[in-house]
Amino acid sequence: MKHRIVVLGAGYTGAFAAGRLARRLSPEDVAITLVNAEPDFVERVRMHQLAAGQDLTPRPFAEMFAGTGVEFRLAQVTAVDADRKRVAVLDAEGAGELEYDTLVYALGSGWNAQGVTGTAEHAYEIASRPGALRLRERLARLDAGQAVTVVGGGLTGVEAVTELAETRPDLDVHFAVRGGLGDWLSPKGREHLRKVADRLGITVHEHAAVERVEAERIATATGDIPAAVTVWTAGFAVHPLAAATALEVTGTGQIVLDRTMRSVSHPDVYAVGDAGFAMGKNGKPLRMSCASGVPMAQVAADAIVARLTGGRVPEASIGYFNQCISLGRADGLIQYVTEDDRARNATLRGRFAARYKEIICKGAAWGVANPTFGLPTRRKRLTKTPTAQGSAMKALA
Ligand SMILES: Cc1cc2nc3c(=O)[nH]c(=O)nc-3n(C[C@H](O)[C@H](O)[C@H](O)COP(=O)(O)OP(=O)(O)OC[C@H]3O[C@@H](n4cnc5c(N)ncnc54)[C@H](O)[C@@H]3O)c2cc1C
Repeated sequence: MKHRIVVLGAGYTGAFAAGRLARRLSPEDVAITLVNAEPDFVERVRMHQLAAGQDLTPRPFAEMFAGTGVEFRLAQVTAVDADRKRVAVLDAEGAGELEYDTLVYALGSGWNAQGVTGTAEHAYEIASRPGALRLRERLARLDAGQAVTVVGGGLTGVEAVTELAETRPDLDVHFAVRGGLGDWLSPKGREHLRKVADRLGITVHEHAAVERVEAERIATATGDIPAAVTVWTAGFAVHPLAAATALEVTGTGQIVLDRTMRSVSHPDVYAVGDAGFAMGKNGKPLRMSCASGVPMAQVAADAIVARLTGGRVPEASIGYFNQCISLGRADGLIQYVTEDDRARNATLRGRFAARYKEIICKGAAWGVANPTFGLPTRRKRLTKTPTAQGSAMKALA
Protein backbone atom coordinates (compact mmCIF):
# COMPACT_ATOMS: atom_id res chain seq x y z
CA MET A 1 0.00 0.00 0.00
CA LYS A 2 1.24 3.46 -0.91
CA HIS A 3 1.32 6.40 1.49
CA ARG A 4 -1.84 8.37 0.64
CA ILE A 5 -1.51 12.14 0.49
CA VAL A 6 -4.78 13.97 -0.05
CA VAL A 7 -4.73 17.69 -0.86
CA LEU A 8 -8.02 19.56 -0.41
CA GLY A 9 -8.42 22.63 -2.60
CA ALA A 10 -6.55 23.45 -5.80
CA GLY A 11 -6.13 27.19 -5.48
CA TYR A 12 -2.69 28.80 -5.58
CA THR A 13 -1.49 26.93 -2.51
CA GLY A 14 -3.10 23.47 -2.71
CA ALA A 15 -2.26 23.03 -6.40
CA PHE A 16 1.30 24.26 -5.78
CA ALA A 17 1.77 21.89 -2.81
CA ALA A 18 0.38 18.88 -4.73
CA GLY A 19 2.69 19.49 -7.68
CA ARG A 20 5.74 20.01 -5.48
CA LEU A 21 5.06 16.80 -3.56
CA ALA A 22 4.62 14.86 -6.79
CA ARG A 23 7.90 16.13 -8.17
CA ARG A 24 9.81 15.24 -5.00
CA LEU A 25 8.38 11.88 -3.93
CA SER A 26 8.57 8.59 -5.77
CA PRO A 27 5.26 7.54 -7.33
CA GLU A 28 6.17 3.99 -6.30
CA ASP A 29 5.70 4.97 -2.66
CA VAL A 30 3.04 7.70 -2.62
CA ALA A 31 -0.39 8.30 -4.15
CA ILE A 32 -1.31 11.99 -4.33
CA THR A 33 -4.93 13.02 -4.81
CA LEU A 34 -5.93 16.64 -5.35
CA VAL A 35 -9.60 17.40 -4.70
CA ASN A 36 -11.23 20.55 -6.02
CA ALA A 37 -14.78 21.71 -6.60
CA GLU A 38 -14.00 23.26 -9.99
CA PRO A 39 -12.31 21.64 -13.01
CA ASP A 40 -9.94 24.48 -13.75
CA PHE A 41 -7.56 26.72 -11.87
CA VAL A 42 -9.06 30.03 -10.76
CA GLU A 43 -6.65 32.97 -10.73
CA ARG A 44 -8.27 34.55 -7.74
CA VAL A 45 -5.97 37.57 -7.81
CA ARG A 46 -7.65 38.55 -11.09
CA MET A 47 -11.28 38.39 -9.95
CA HIS A 48 -11.63 42.20 -10.18
CA GLN A 49 -10.49 41.95 -13.81
CA LEU A 50 -13.03 39.21 -14.50
CA ALA A 51 -15.77 41.32 -12.88
CA ALA A 52 -14.76 44.31 -14.98
CA GLY A 53 -15.37 42.30 -18.18
CA GLN A 54 -11.93 40.88 -19.04
CA ASP A 55 -11.59 37.25 -20.07
CA LEU A 56 -9.03 35.10 -18.26
CA THR A 57 -6.86 32.35 -19.73
CA PRO A 58 -8.52 28.96 -19.10
CA ARG A 59 -6.25 26.63 -17.10
CA PRO A 60 -7.77 23.12 -16.86
CA PHE A 61 -6.29 20.93 -14.10
CA ALA A 62 -6.38 17.91 -16.41
CA GLU A 63 -3.71 19.63 -18.56
CA MET A 64 -1.85 21.20 -15.66
CA PHE A 65 -1.27 17.88 -13.87
CA ALA A 66 -0.97 15.57 -16.88
CA GLY A 67 2.01 13.27 -16.35
CA THR A 68 2.88 14.64 -12.91
CA GLY A 69 1.55 11.73 -10.86
CA VAL A 70 -1.12 13.87 -9.18
CA GLU A 71 -4.59 12.36 -9.49
CA PHE A 72 -7.12 15.17 -9.85
CA ARG A 73 -10.57 14.53 -8.37
CA LEU A 74 -13.41 16.89 -9.22
CA ALA A 75 -15.53 16.90 -6.05
CA GLN A 76 -16.92 19.06 -3.29
CA VAL A 77 -15.34 18.42 0.12
CA THR A 78 -18.18 18.23 2.65
CA ALA A 79 -16.45 17.15 5.87
CA VAL A 80 -13.12 16.13 7.37
CA ASP A 81 -12.80 13.57 10.15
CA ALA A 82 -9.32 14.33 11.42
CA ASP A 83 -9.41 11.61 14.08
CA ARG A 84 -10.39 8.83 11.64
CA LYS A 85 -8.32 10.36 8.80
CA ARG A 86 -11.16 10.49 6.33
CA VAL A 87 -12.60 13.14 4.04
CA ALA A 88 -16.23 13.15 2.88
CA VAL A 89 -16.71 14.26 -0.72
CA LEU A 90 -19.60 14.76 -3.09
CA ASP A 91 -19.14 14.36 -6.83
CA ALA A 92 -21.20 13.59 -9.94
CA GLU A 93 -21.57 10.01 -8.73
CA GLY A 94 -22.79 10.96 -5.27
CA ALA A 95 -21.29 10.95 -1.78
CA GLY A 96 -18.00 9.20 -1.11
CA GLU A 97 -15.08 9.03 1.28
CA LEU A 98 -11.31 9.36 0.89
CA GLU A 99 -8.84 7.98 3.40
CA TYR A 100 -5.49 9.62 3.92
CA ASP A 101 -2.19 9.14 5.68
CA THR A 102 -1.26 12.80 5.24
CA LEU A 103 -3.74 15.60 4.58
CA VAL A 104 -2.99 19.03 3.14
CA TYR A 105 -5.94 21.35 3.81
CA ALA A 106 -6.07 24.29 1.35
CA LEU A 107 -9.72 25.23 0.95
CA GLY A 108 -8.95 28.95 0.95
CA SER A 109 -11.49 31.59 1.85
CA GLY A 110 -14.49 33.52 0.62
CA TRP A 111 -15.87 36.98 1.21
CA ASN A 112 -16.51 38.28 4.69
CA ALA A 113 -19.75 40.22 5.13
CA GLN A 114 -18.63 41.15 8.68
CA GLY A 115 -22.22 40.72 9.83
CA VAL A 116 -23.31 44.02 8.28
CA THR A 117 -27.07 44.22 7.66
CA GLY A 118 -28.14 43.95 4.03
CA THR A 119 -24.89 42.53 2.63
CA ALA A 120 -26.34 39.07 1.88
CA GLU A 121 -29.30 40.58 -0.01
CA HIS A 122 -27.71 43.53 -1.78
CA ALA A 123 -23.90 43.29 -1.95
CA TYR A 124 -21.75 41.70 -4.66
CA GLU A 125 -18.46 39.96 -3.89
CA ILE A 126 -15.32 39.26 -5.91
CA ALA A 127 -13.60 36.71 -3.65
CA SER A 128 -14.87 33.85 -5.82
CA ARG A 129 -15.33 33.27 -9.55
CA PRO A 130 -19.13 32.86 -9.31
CA GLY A 131 -19.25 36.13 -7.35
CA ALA A 132 -17.11 37.97 -9.91
CA LEU A 133 -19.21 36.66 -12.79
CA ARG A 134 -22.43 37.72 -11.08
CA LEU A 135 -21.04 41.24 -10.64
CA ARG A 136 -19.83 41.32 -14.26
CA GLU A 137 -23.30 40.48 -15.47
CA ARG A 138 -24.87 43.16 -13.23
CA LEU A 139 -22.38 45.85 -14.30
CA ALA A 140 -23.12 45.14 -17.95
CA ARG A 141 -26.75 46.11 -17.27
CA LEU A 142 -25.93 49.43 -15.56
CA ASP A 143 -26.67 52.64 -17.45
CA ALA A 144 -24.27 55.59 -17.65
CA GLY A 145 -24.31 57.70 -14.50
CA GLN A 146 -25.46 54.95 -12.16
CA ALA A 147 -23.56 54.60 -8.91
CA VAL A 148 -21.23 51.73 -8.00
CA THR A 149 -19.72 51.76 -4.52
CA VAL A 150 -16.78 49.59 -3.53
CA VAL A 151 -16.58 48.95 0.22
CA GLY A 152 -13.28 48.07 1.90
CA GLY A 153 -10.08 50.09 1.77
CA GLY A 154 -7.62 47.16 1.66
CA LEU A 155 -5.66 45.79 -1.29
CA THR A 156 -8.63 44.05 -2.91
CA GLY A 157 -10.85 47.13 -2.63
CA VAL A 158 -8.18 49.40 -4.12
CA GLU A 159 -7.64 47.03 -7.06
CA ALA A 160 -11.39 46.59 -7.60
CA VAL A 161 -12.38 50.27 -7.50
CA THR A 162 -9.60 51.40 -9.86
CA GLU A 163 -10.30 48.55 -12.31
CA LEU A 164 -14.02 49.33 -12.41
CA ALA A 165 -13.51 53.09 -12.74
CA GLU A 166 -10.99 52.63 -15.55
CA THR A 167 -13.20 50.15 -17.47
CA ARG A 168 -16.45 52.05 -16.96
CA PRO A 169 -15.68 55.80 -16.93
CA ASP A 170 -19.40 56.35 -17.62
CA LEU A 171 -20.36 55.13 -14.12
CA ASP A 172 -20.42 57.15 -10.90
CA VAL A 173 -17.80 55.22 -8.88
CA HIS A 174 -17.47 55.61 -5.09
CA PHE A 175 -15.01 54.10 -2.63
CA ALA A 176 -16.01 53.73 1.04
CA VAL A 177 -13.08 53.15 3.39
CA ARG A 178 -13.15 52.73 7.15
CA GLY A 179 -9.96 54.76 7.78
CA GLY A 180 -8.00 57.10 5.51
CA LEU A 181 -7.37 56.22 1.86
CA GLY A 182 -4.39 53.82 1.70
CA ASP A 183 -3.48 54.61 5.29
CA TRP A 184 -1.24 51.54 5.53
CA LEU A 185 0.94 52.80 2.63
CA SER A 186 3.99 55.05 2.75
CA PRO A 187 3.39 58.80 2.12
CA LYS A 188 4.51 58.41 -1.53
CA GLY A 189 2.25 55.39 -1.96
CA ARG A 190 -0.73 57.24 -0.49
CA GLU A 191 -0.10 60.27 -2.66
CA HIS A 192 0.04 58.13 -5.81
CA LEU A 193 -3.16 56.30 -4.90
CA ARG A 194 -4.96 59.60 -4.32
CA LYS A 195 -3.75 60.95 -7.69
CA VAL A 196 -4.98 57.83 -9.50
CA ALA A 197 -8.35 57.98 -7.72
CA ASP A 198 -8.71 61.63 -8.81
CA ARG A 199 -7.67 60.88 -12.40
CA LEU A 200 -10.22 58.05 -12.61
CA GLY A 201 -12.99 60.21 -11.12
CA ILE A 202 -13.50 58.04 -8.03
CA THR A 203 -15.31 59.73 -5.13
CA VAL A 204 -13.51 58.61 -1.97
CA HIS A 205 -15.43 58.50 1.34
CA GLU A 206 -12.95 58.23 4.22
CA HIS A 207 -13.78 57.18 7.80
CA ALA A 208 -17.01 55.76 6.40
CA ALA A 209 -17.63 52.58 8.40
CA VAL A 210 -20.60 50.91 6.71
CA GLU A 211 -23.61 50.27 8.94
CA ARG A 212 -26.17 48.97 6.42
CA VAL A 213 -26.38 48.04 2.75
CA GLU A 214 -29.62 48.77 0.91
CA ALA A 215 -30.76 48.27 -2.69
CA GLU A 216 -29.84 51.79 -3.86
CA ARG A 217 -27.48 53.12 -1.17
CA ILE A 218 -25.27 52.25 1.76
CA ALA A 219 -25.56 53.89 5.17
CA THR A 220 -22.24 54.80 6.80
CA ALA A 221 -21.11 56.48 9.99
CA THR A 222 -20.60 59.69 8.00
CA GLY A 223 -23.77 59.60 5.87
CA ASP A 224 -25.39 57.77 2.96
CA ILE A 225 -23.57 56.89 -0.27
CA PRO A 226 -25.49 56.11 -3.47
CA ALA A 227 -25.01 52.54 -4.69
CA ALA A 228 -27.05 50.90 -7.44
CA VAL A 229 -24.39 48.24 -6.97
CA THR A 230 -22.37 47.64 -3.81
CA VAL A 231 -19.12 45.67 -4.18
CA TRP A 232 -18.08 44.23 -0.83
CA THR A 233 -14.34 43.64 -0.36
CA ALA A 234 -13.99 44.08 3.41
CA GLY A 235 -11.80 41.06 4.22
CA PHE A 236 -11.96 37.30 3.70
CA ALA A 237 -13.55 34.57 5.84
CA VAL A 238 -12.32 30.97 5.83
CA HIS A 239 -14.44 27.98 4.91
CA PRO A 240 -16.43 26.82 7.99
CA LEU A 241 -15.42 23.19 7.39
CA ALA A 242 -12.24 23.22 9.51
CA ALA A 243 -14.06 24.61 12.55
CA ALA A 244 -16.45 21.65 12.39
CA THR A 245 -13.55 19.17 12.81
CA ALA A 246 -11.50 18.12 15.83
CA LEU A 247 -8.62 20.23 14.51
CA GLU A 248 -7.46 23.12 16.65
CA VAL A 249 -8.63 26.34 14.99
CA THR A 250 -8.57 30.05 15.80
CA GLY A 251 -11.75 31.98 16.66
CA THR A 252 -12.11 32.77 12.96
CA GLY A 253 -11.77 29.12 11.90
CA GLN A 254 -8.18 29.03 10.60
CA ILE A 255 -6.21 25.86 11.41
CA VAL A 256 -3.50 26.59 14.00
CA LEU A 257 -0.08 25.59 12.63
CA ASP A 258 3.48 25.15 13.79
CA ARG A 259 6.45 26.46 11.82
CA THR A 260 6.30 23.51 9.41
CA MET A 261 2.64 24.28 8.55
CA ARG A 262 1.53 21.21 10.47
CA SER A 263 -1.58 21.25 12.64
CA VAL A 264 -0.67 21.64 16.31
CA SER A 265 -3.42 19.17 17.24
CA HIS A 266 -3.20 16.56 14.43
CA PRO A 267 0.32 15.76 13.15
CA ASP A 268 -0.98 14.10 9.97
CA VAL A 269 -2.65 17.33 8.87
CA TYR A 270 -1.00 20.34 7.23
CA ALA A 271 -2.77 23.53 6.19
CA VAL A 272 -1.64 26.15 3.68
CA GLY A 273 -2.88 29.44 2.33
CA ASP A 274 -5.82 31.37 3.71
CA ALA A 275 -7.06 28.32 5.66
CA GLY A 276 -4.00 28.19 7.93
CA PHE A 277 -2.92 30.34 10.85
CA ALA A 278 0.87 30.61 11.08
CA MET A 279 3.30 33.13 12.47
CA GLY A 280 5.54 35.21 10.24
CA LYS A 281 8.50 37.40 11.11
CA ASN A 282 8.47 39.23 14.45
CA GLY A 283 5.72 36.91 15.72
CA LYS A 284 3.05 38.55 13.53
CA PRO A 285 0.40 36.26 11.98
CA LEU A 286 0.71 35.87 8.23
CA ARG A 287 -2.00 37.70 6.30
CA MET A 288 -4.34 35.92 3.90
CA SER A 289 -2.61 36.34 0.55
CA CYS A 290 -0.71 34.52 -2.15
CA ALA A 291 2.35 36.35 -0.86
CA SER A 292 2.23 34.23 2.31
CA GLY A 293 0.25 31.23 1.00
CA VAL A 294 2.71 30.11 -1.67
CA PRO A 295 5.72 30.08 0.72
CA MET A 296 3.49 28.24 3.24
CA ALA A 297 2.76 25.60 0.60
CA GLN A 298 6.46 25.30 -0.19
CA VAL A 299 7.33 24.80 3.49
CA ALA A 300 4.51 22.27 4.04
CA ALA A 301 5.46 20.21 0.97
CA ASP A 302 9.15 20.22 1.90
CA ALA A 303 8.35 19.29 5.52
CA ILE A 304 6.19 16.37 4.39
CA VAL A 305 8.92 15.17 2.02
CA ALA A 306 11.55 15.49 4.76
CA ARG A 307 9.48 13.62 7.32
CA LEU A 308 8.68 10.81 4.90
CA THR A 309 12.17 10.43 3.53
CA GLY A 310 14.29 11.08 6.62
CA GLY A 311 15.55 14.49 5.49
CA ARG A 312 16.01 17.68 7.51
CA VAL A 313 12.66 19.26 8.30
CA PRO A 314 12.56 22.97 7.26
CA GLU A 315 11.18 25.50 9.72
CA ALA A 316 9.53 28.49 8.15
CA SER A 317 10.21 32.08 8.85
CA ILE A 318 8.09 33.69 6.19
CA GLY A 319 8.54 37.38 5.57
CA TYR A 320 7.28 39.94 3.07
CA PHE A 321 9.12 42.04 0.52
CA ASN A 322 6.54 44.14 -1.29
CA GLN A 323 2.85 44.62 -1.92
CA CYS A 324 2.01 44.63 -5.62
CA ILE A 325 -1.16 46.59 -6.34
CA SER A 326 -2.79 47.04 -9.74
CA LEU A 327 -4.54 50.38 -10.29
CA GLY A 328 -6.34 49.47 -13.48
CA ARG A 329 -4.42 48.03 -16.44
CA ALA A 330 -2.20 51.05 -17.09
CA ASP A 331 -1.13 52.03 -13.58
CA GLY A 332 0.12 50.32 -10.45
CA LEU A 333 1.84 50.69 -7.13
CA ILE A 334 4.58 48.51 -5.73
CA GLN A 335 4.90 49.31 -2.04
CA TYR A 336 8.09 47.90 -0.52
CA VAL A 337 7.59 46.62 3.02
CA THR A 338 9.57 45.34 5.97
CA GLU A 339 9.72 41.59 6.56
CA ASP A 340 6.74 41.94 8.90
CA ASP A 341 4.73 43.84 6.27
CA ARG A 342 5.06 47.49 7.34
CA ALA A 343 5.42 50.05 4.54
CA ARG A 344 8.94 51.28 3.86
CA ASN A 345 9.60 54.62 2.27
CA ALA A 346 10.15 53.06 -1.18
CA THR A 347 7.70 52.56 -4.01
CA LEU A 348 7.44 51.94 -7.73
CA ARG A 349 4.55 53.76 -9.38
CA GLY A 350 2.78 54.11 -12.69
CA ARG A 351 3.05 52.09 -15.89
CA PHE A 352 6.19 50.24 -14.85
CA ALA A 353 4.51 49.13 -11.61
CA ALA A 354 1.50 47.90 -13.62
CA ARG A 355 3.82 45.74 -15.75
CA TYR A 356 5.61 44.46 -12.66
CA LYS A 357 2.29 43.45 -11.11
CA GLU A 358 1.27 41.68 -14.32
CA ILE A 359 4.52 39.68 -14.26
CA ILE A 360 3.81 38.72 -10.62
CA CYS A 361 0.29 37.50 -11.51
CA LYS A 362 1.57 35.52 -14.51
CA GLY A 363 4.41 34.15 -12.37
CA ALA A 364 1.99 32.97 -9.67
CA ALA A 365 -0.06 31.01 -12.21
CA TRP A 366 3.12 29.65 -13.83
CA GLY A 367 4.35 28.57 -10.38
CA VAL A 368 1.24 26.43 -9.89
CA ALA A 369 2.07 24.52 -13.07
CA ASN A 370 5.83 24.51 -12.30
CA PRO A 371 6.02 24.04 -8.51
CA THR A 372 9.73 23.28 -8.44
CA PHE A 373 10.32 26.44 -10.49
CA GLY A 374 11.42 24.45 -13.53
CA LEU A 375 14.44 23.02 -11.67
CA PRO A 376 15.10 19.29 -11.94
CA THR A 377 14.35 17.34 -8.74
CA ARG A 378 14.99 13.84 -7.54
CA ARG A 379 11.92 11.79 -6.65
CA LYS A 380 12.88 10.41 -3.28
CA ARG A 381 11.92 7.01 -1.91
CA LEU A 382 10.27 6.76 1.49
CA THR A 383 12.50 5.66 4.34
CA LYS A 384 10.06 3.08 5.77
CA THR A 385 7.56 0.73 4.25
CA PRO A 386 4.19 2.47 3.87
CA THR A 387 2.53 0.21 6.45
CA ALA A 388 5.00 1.42 9.06
CA GLN A 389 4.67 5.02 7.89
CA GLY A 390 2.49 6.25 10.75
CA SER A 391 5.09 5.35 13.36
CA ALA A 392 7.92 6.44 11.03
CA MET A 393 6.40 9.90 10.82
CA LYS A 394 6.14 10.16 14.59
CA ALA A 395 9.74 9.01 14.97
CA LEU A 396 10.98 11.59 12.46
CA ALA A 397 8.94 14.46 13.86
C1 LIG B 1 -9.69 40.29 -6.26
C2 LIG B 1 -8.58 39.71 -5.44
C3 LIG B 1 -7.28 40.18 -5.61
C4 LIG B 1 -6.24 39.63 -4.87
N1 LIG B 1 -4.98 40.11 -5.07
C5 LIG B 1 -3.96 39.57 -4.39
C6 LIG B 1 -2.63 40.01 -4.63
O1 LIG B 1 -2.39 40.90 -5.44
N2 LIG B 1 -1.62 39.43 -3.92
C7 LIG B 1 -1.85 38.44 -3.01
O2 LIG B 1 -0.88 37.96 -2.41
N3 LIG B 1 -3.10 38.02 -2.75
C8 LIG B 1 -4.15 38.54 -3.43
N4 LIG B 1 -5.43 38.10 -3.19
C9 LIG B 1 -5.65 37.05 -2.16
C10 LIG B 1 -5.38 35.67 -2.76
O3 LIG B 1 -6.15 35.49 -3.92
C11 LIG B 1 -5.72 34.58 -1.75
O4 LIG B 1 -5.06 34.85 -0.54
C12 LIG B 1 -5.27 33.23 -2.31
O5 LIG B 1 -6.04 32.91 -3.45
C13 LIG B 1 -5.39 32.14 -1.26
O6 LIG B 1 -4.96 30.94 -1.84
P1 LIG B 1 -5.56 29.57 -1.29
O7 LIG B 1 -4.91 28.48 -2.10
O8 LIG B 1 -5.47 29.52 0.18
O9 LIG B 1 -7.11 29.64 -1.62
P2 LIG B 1 -7.90 29.80 -2.98
O10 LIG B 1 -7.07 30.40 -4.03
O11 LIG B 1 -9.18 30.44 -2.60
O12 LIG B 1 -8.20 28.29 -3.40
C14 LIG B 1 -9.08 27.46 -2.68
C15 LIG B 1 -9.50 26.33 -3.60
O13 LIG B 1 -10.33 25.43 -2.86
C16 LIG B 1 -11.48 25.12 -3.62
N5 LIG B 1 -12.55 24.81 -2.68
C17 LIG B 1 -13.08 25.63 -1.73
N6 LIG B 1 -14.02 24.97 -1.02
C18 LIG B 1 -14.07 23.71 -1.52
C19 LIG B 1 -14.80 22.55 -1.18
N7 LIG B 1 -15.68 22.53 -0.17
N8 LIG B 1 -14.57 21.43 -1.89
C20 LIG B 1 -13.66 21.40 -2.90
N9 LIG B 1 -12.93 22.47 -3.25
C21 LIG B 1 -13.13 23.61 -2.57
C22 LIG B 1 -11.75 26.35 -4.47
O14 LIG B 1 -12.50 26.00 -5.62
C23 LIG B 1 -10.33 26.79 -4.79
O15 LIG B 1 -9.85 26.18 -5.97
C24 LIG B 1 -6.50 38.61 -3.92
C25 LIG B 1 -7.78 38.13 -3.74
C26 LIG B 1 -8.83 38.66 -4.49
C27 LIG B 1 -10.21 38.12 -4.30
